[in-house]
Amino acid sequence: MNVHKETVKQIQVRLLRWYKKHKRPLPWRTKKSPYRTFISEVMLQQTQIKTVIPYFERWMKVFPTVEKLAKAPIDRVLKLWEGLGYYTRARNLHRASQIIVEKHGGKIPSDYETLLSLPGIGRYTAGAVASIAFDQPVPLVDGNVARVFSRVFNIHKDILKPETQNELYAIAYQLVPQKNPGEFNQALMELGSLVCFPTMPSCRTCPVSSLCIAQRKGIQESLPIKSNSLKRKKVNLATAIVIHAKKLLIRKRPEKGIWAGLWELPSVAIQNGKKFEEKLSGELKETHGVKLKSTRALSPSLHRLTHLDVTIYPYLFKPASLPSLSPSNGERVRARGKWITKSDVKKFSFPVPYQKLIKHAFEIQKGDRQRSLTCPLFDHDAN
Ligand code: SF4
Repeated sequence: MNVHKETVKQIQVRLLRWYKKHKRPLPWRTKKSPYRTFISEVMLQQTQIKTVIPYFERWMKVFPTVEKLAKAPIDRVLKLWEGLGYYTRARNLHRASQIIVEKHGGKIPSDYETLLSLPGIGRYTAGAVASIAFDQPVPLVDGNVARVFSRVFNIHKDILKPETQNELYAIAYQLVPQKNPGEFNQALMELGSLVCFPTMPSCRTCPVSSLCIAQRKGIQESLPIKSNSLKRKKVNLATAIVIHAKKLLIRKRPEKGIWAGLWELPSVAIQNGKKFEEKLSGELKETHGVKLKSTRALSPSLHRLTHLDVTIYPYLFKPASLPSLSPSNGERVRARGKWITKSDVKKFSFPVPYQKLIKHAFEIQKGDRQRSLTCPLFDHDAN
């Protein structure tokens, strides 16, 4: 689609003027550096601004420079990322920081193609860093921009399809100005966040309303078109809470798959209808040498990840004795696990569902009978 020159000019002028007045004072905007832009853009991938802010601020205190990040052990990086989700981003960020130190003298590359070659950096993030941090006239399209373009230019095509994405990028390329490209790209995204909402867009306050075809036709809310072709997969995990002598059994998850490399309560993937508790106790006995004293089933809980619904079925195990576990590394740690005390918990990175279970596990251990009885996790017996 070719955008008329006058329309391009109008959109640029109006959006930049509007952004100057309405932009939010976000921490990566009020104090700017290429490193801060780089970190914030990776954190913002598929994550809301309000969720990212406290993580970003903590991160900058612990890893204020790319060198500090590159030198840090991956477990420390993952711990700081704990709860932010999509943990591959943290691993890629860590690897990217090492490449930046080794190959680029510790300087975030300003060139789009070099940024694109870094682990975990796609065309959106490369465009964002090149334009926002280095004023390069490089376009970007995120979910907000796709929505604004679909409406302004009346695009009735599935925005999740690669060919539509290419079309949206072609529009963005025509719109991004030579002067202030970073401000313009942020203005587009900010418009999507603050005005052009997915439902009930605030067209009356929109700086480009007189140029917006969907607004003119009154069809704003029917755009953009998004297919629901991505089928959500279901995963069931039977999870063991094994607690003995104030110590809880944990182990490291495999380096691939969901929650890769984080720590967990021992879990096994299960099919619906199979005997969960039996499979889990077999795994505990075989892998960790835990002899069982008694078990109890707690309420399952559902956790929605990007394309995955994970249901966790927790079971409480009481071993008769504490097997000696003194693992030192990698697979051995995973295979044999670690016994940790309540104060050790902060040293390990756990996905959010396990954090909640661990909290309850220590409450149970404390022997707080009243609390256990009213705990929402307790609702039926395993046997
Ligand atoms: S006029 Fe309405 S629909 Fe069009 S871009 Fe502005 S807020 Fe979105």
